[in-house]
Amino acid sequence: MIIPELDSLIEARLRTLAEARAGGTKVVGYLPGGYVPDELIYASGAIPLCLIHGGEARSAEEALSLVPNVICPFARAQIGETLLRENPFYTSLDLVVVPTTCQHFKQVGDVWEHQGMVDVFKLGVPYDCQDDYEVEYYRGRLSELKKTLEHLTGNSITDDKLTEAIDVYNRLRRLLKTLSLARRDQQPAISALDFVRLNHFSMYADPVMMGDALEALCSSTPAAPPLPAKRPRVMLAGPALGFGDYDIINLITEAGADVVIEEIFEGIRDYRHVVDGSGDPLGRLAWSYLHDKKPAAFVRGATRKKIDFVLDLIKEFDVHGVLWYQLLCCELYDEESYLFEKVLRERGIPMLVVESDYHNLAVGPMKTRLEAFVEILQGGPVDA
Ligand code: SF4
Repeated sequence: MIIPELDSLIEARLRTLAEARAGGTKVVGYLPGGYVPDELIYASGAIPLCLIHGGEARSAEEALSLVPNVICPFARAQIGETLLRENPFYTSLDLVVVPTTCQHFKQVGDVWEHQGMVDVFKLGVPYDCQDDYEVEYYRGRLSELKKTLEHLTGNSITDDKLTEAIDVYNRLRRLLKTLSLARRDQQPAISALDFVRLNHFSMYADPVMMGDALEALCSSTPAAPPLPAKRPRVMLAGPALGFGDYDIINLITEAGADVVIEEIFEGIRDYRHVVDGSGDPLGRLAWSYLHDKKPAAFVRGATRKKIDFVLDLIKEFDVHGVLWYQLLCCELYDEESYLFEKVLRERGIPMLVVESDYHNLAVGPMKTRLEAFVEILQGGPVDA
């Protein structure tokens, strides 16, 4: 029921984007991971777009003319989409904000800049977030971004506009959270694929219209039909899940289990944190995006917090196993997978690591591996 509506919302968004550009409105893209506040871009009068296309080998390969294949396929896909010039979300950009999280994203920003493909603003993200000077540094970078956006749009970002934008995005996050928490039920009223697609579209959509659509959905989602049999409940964890990278969800569903919660760094909007408090709105944004948001990905020292967060989610969503979906050459998540697997094993929670380079996940031995994993979750042989 949701998917046809979503397709028409995407088409409508592309139309309004073209009209807005023709009328002189600026479009500002940014790379995902949760460190670039939409609020700041929105308050400037520009249209924020979180660039999250991925999952297609073609766009990842297109980038190989500019970067080596040690750059992960998701990062390469961002370059590939701009090179292919077929995706309107990537051809409409006046500026891109690149957070300095992993080296692969830094490379994307450097290539865009070096090739003169689009103007780039590099948003420094501090090494940690425990001390005041780290939040101050990040606030300082947001302040520079504010000036850049004011210069680009010719609009000044007042505290009132920023406070209004914070309210708009708090509403969006709250509604996504409501929808997500509904999946704690043993018969979730929304599938993982529908939730992920909605979450992804929230990265491209007008936030007010998206909020209205989500509000209608939250008040109308019908109870799911009874399930034929109890199926294992799975958490999908990993670094990145691009818009269009849906094979892994389809495959685990076909194998007999349901994804009921995601812990994904790039590609799932962080909907659990709220920008609250009063006073300096830029300071509130800096604190919330650096300190309060969950999961606390990428800031160093966050692994312990991420493990605790994942364990809490496992309990909250009654998860039976973790499907760790990582991308080729994503060394940070590859390293973390060992740690997570060990902690989960100690607690008797199975975890399966799956790696993708965006080539034909749906063929080959993957299906068998996922079926064996589901069998383990159902209490079957542990040596499958
Ligand atoms: S998938 Fe991994 S390597 Fe690629 S951009 Fe994300 S964190 Fe970096």
